[in-house]
Amino acid sequence: MENKDKIFVFGHKNPDTDSICSSVVMANLRAKLGENVEAVRLGELNKETSFAFKHFNIEPPRLLDKLEDGSNVIMVDHNEFAQSADNIENANIKMLVDHHRVADFKTSEPVYMFSEPVGCTGTILYRLYNMNGVEIDKNTASLMLSSIISDTLLFKSPTCTEDDIKAAEALQKIAGIDVNEYGLEMLKAGTDLDDLTEDQLVSLDAKEFNSGDVKFKIAQINTVSIPDVLRRQDKIEEAINKVIKDENLDLFVFAITDILNSNSELIALGKRTDIVEKTYKLENNRAFAEGMVSRKKQILPMVTDNI
Ligand code: MG
Ligand code: MG
Ligand code: MG
Repeated sequence: MENKDKIFVFGHKNPDTDSICSSVVMANLRAKLGENVEAVRLGELNKETSFAFKHFNIEPPRLLDKLEDGSNVIMVDHNEFAQSADNIENANIKMLVDHHRVADFKTSEPVYMFSEPVGCTGTILYRLYNMNGVEIDKNTASLMLSSIISDTLLFKSPTCTEDDIKAAEALQKIAGIDVNEYGLEMLKAGTDLDDLTEDQLVSLDAKEFNSGDVKFKIAQINTVSIPDVLRRQDKIEEAINKVIKDENLDLFVFAITDILNSNSELIALGKRTDIVEKTYKLENNRAFAEGMVSRKKQILPMVTDNI
């Protein structure tokens, strides 16, 4: 039987590099502070994240298949229950480390919350290591750096702050890697989408949100060629419509983000596309969004402000 004091550390469903790396980095920190912790993940690794773990020869966390009632957990890189483990409502949330809007988050016991409007959970963890006087080893630095590169798109996203840049500068020295060279390689690994089915494409980095009585999803994929992805538009739409039906969504926004030129093409489907049309005129269910790369800071507010 598993020790009932064990604390599970995990990021959001459809995990990205920050969610996976920050789970491992946070688990290392809590372990060094004497706690019984295990980093776990709530979904498959994407190609970008796999690239990072292989590059540094680090074992990724195991998949958590079921969260038992009363399990002790630390949530990183998310706080909305719709994006968390099934049964999170009945978990004992000990701590939260996150950099997103706070919504639908509730606990029965007091909780440590480290929430900052920075570009990446890794940046907050960098501060937590320093606050606790815990030394950052090479592997930990490499994972934190991978988180920062991923979430800030190599410092180009409008979510990137001075804190993220300073943390990355310090971490790159410990990790002993050239952040720009490694970063571009890692981001490019994540744009290899050819062998993914359309069902996989639309769920790879999808997040569910609720605002008012509107239930919606925003999914995002990174590419170096928007036209390449748009060649699959018909099948992508089929896959999106299936999700809308199965999950009873009002709206699905699929952002195809060009990481080299920092723009996105949006595909919007569902009965509430009028929300998106308050900002973008949709033609053939899609619109070009110049300069839009951040779900958190650009796409999500665009939707919620229009509801
Ligand atoms: Mg994330
Ligand atoms: Mg993040
Ligand atoms: Mg992301």
